[in-house]
Amino acid sequence: MGFFLGPLQPCIFKRCKLIKVLAQSSTRRKDSPMATLEAPVRPRTTTHQGPFVTEPFFDFRNEENARRMRAAIAKVRGQLGREYDLIIGGKHVKTGDKIKSLNPSQPSQIVGIHQKAGKEHVEPAMKAAVEAFQSWSRTTVEERASLLFRAADLMRQRKMEYMAWLVFEVSKNWAEADADISETIDFCEFYAREALRFAKAQTPVQLPGERDTLTYIPLGVGAVIPPWNFPCAIMAGMTLASIVSGNTVILKPSSDSPTIAAKFVELLEECGIPEGVVNFCPGAGASFGDAVVAHPKTRYIAFTGSREVGLHINQVAATQAPGQIWIKRTILEMGGKDAIIVDADADIDSAVEGVAQAAFGFQGQKCSACSRAIVDERVYDKFLEQLKARVEKIQIGDVTENAAMGAVINEGSMKTILGYIEQGKKDGRLLTGGERATDAGEGYFIQPTVFADIPPKSKLEQEEIFGPVLAVIKARGFDHALEIANDTEFGLTGAVYTKSRDKIDRAIQEFHVGNLYINRKCTGAMVGAHPFGGFNMSGTDSKSGGPDYLYLFTQAKSVGEKLL
Ligand code: NAD
Repeated sequence: MGFFLGPLQPCIFKRCKLIKVLAQSSTRRKDSPMATLEAPVRPRTTTHQGPFVTEPFFDFRNEENARRMRAAIAKVRGQLGREYDLIIGGKHVKTGDKIKSLNPSQPSQIVGIHQKAGKEHVEPAMKAAVEAFQSWSRTTVEERASLLFRAADLMRQRKMEYMAWLVFEVSKNWAEADADISETIDFCEFYAREALRFAKAQTPVQLPGERDTLTYIPLGVGAVIPPWNFPCAIMAGMTLASIVSGNTVILKPSSDSPTIAAKFVELLEECGIPEGVVNFCPGAGASFGDAVVAHPKTRYIAFTGSREVGLHINQVAATQAPGQIWIKRTILEMGGKDAIIVDADADIDSAVEGVAQAAFGFQGQKCSACSRAIVDERVYDKFLEQLKARVEKIQIGDVTENAAMGAVINEGSMKTILGYIEQGKKDGRLLTGGERATDAGEGYFIQPTVFADIPPKSKLEQEEIFGPVLAVIKARGFDHALEIANDTEFGLTGAVYTKSRDKIDRAIQEFHVGNLYINRKCTGAMVGAHPFGGFNMSGTDSKSGGPDYLYLFTQAKSVGEKLL
């Protein structure tokens, strides 16, 4: 079953622009009575009516895929160093200050030059977002969903090109870049369907003589503040959930990854997004970001990033600014200190593989990365021996040629990680790694590093490092392992390798994390299957990619209408 745009009312230009783009891509069925009419048009949503399925990943062992990826990298290489503008109310704005986005693998290479929004840009961005909200919040959900479906289509067509931007901007290898862009496409497809589902919500009870309805209406203007580590998926996911729900947005990407965000905003423009619905404002978190959060007209903040910044945003948002007439909603997804428990009866080969991938995939810079392996003493030595051999095979280097590991995001991050490595040398036993990988190139390369015998409650065992450093901790048994795993202030992801049904059931009950995995690694959440978000200081457990997510971007209005 397809659906149609609502009747074309006298509309303001912005709305017409969206409809025009949808019309250009419409597929009219010849047998449809609509085929002979000029309007209404059938939006390009007819191919999106089936159930959601996740976007497939590329197999780069296939030579043709590898060739196409190299071609995409060559194409993007030719576009490096271009300048991008702020986009406020559809207008391109230049600033005196600039943000240079550098390639972490080769910091002398500029990926993109961006205007830098300052405090003086907060008011114009807010004005544009508030104005656009008047019309965008009244568009039909079908129109908004169509925009996301079209974005998914276009992104799918140019998937490798977007992946190539991630290779340059944040040093992702091909598979990691694929996962990021695939997740972005998934968010388009999933949230569009979710918005359509929300629009069909009904009250559980209809009183006699009344028409009782429940409608999920948008909130207002949201501040979307993403991190750099899933620079497309998280940035786009929070933006897409916002706009498909009828909100408008001030998007402040991370200063380490503004280029992929600029590309995503260009894509939305190409899809016909009306002016002012997404206002693109790279800028410093502490000045522009802070001021947007504090603004009285900001209705909600969708943030993903560190515990420190998340808590700060929570505090600023909780303070009523003069003229503010609502409680700001905060959707805060923060850090982790994620653990994999390896039980005495685990399949050690698969546990080693899972730990190595989860600890060192994308250089350990995932909120879900395994930074602690908690291993039963009965298999501890065997596990360490196999893990050392596996980790020493990891090739570090040129991600444009698909090395397994690239560079960490920036110099400051590299120094912090090397500081933790020095701490680890005091607190534990260095098993492998432990140095900057200077032979990999001029970039911020660090060897995959494993410390054994790290004591519970030590710095390395408690603090998020966000780099390729794994602490291995010896446990006396399963009870002890669970106790260690739960003994941090975080609660994001975790995994357990065991063959025991009893221990699996206990982990499900007692391992206090938002995303738990059994006999598989603790990274790689898939949209729809693993709604994502953490407990405790890991955040507000918003469960992105899940059936509850859009509630956070809407408010429910109940109407009880007495039938006359
Ligand atoms: P960060 O907290 O340094 O920055 C995140 C964003 O907040 C950036 O856009 C930054 O510019 C902005 N910001 C900084 N100060 C601000 C302020 N005072 N007001 C408003 N905005 C401000 O985090 P990061 O280094 O970009 O990302 C890494 C962190 O993100 C890690 O802790 C990681 O665990 C976490 N993360 C969590 C999840 C999750 O789903 N839980 C996912 C990815 C990353």
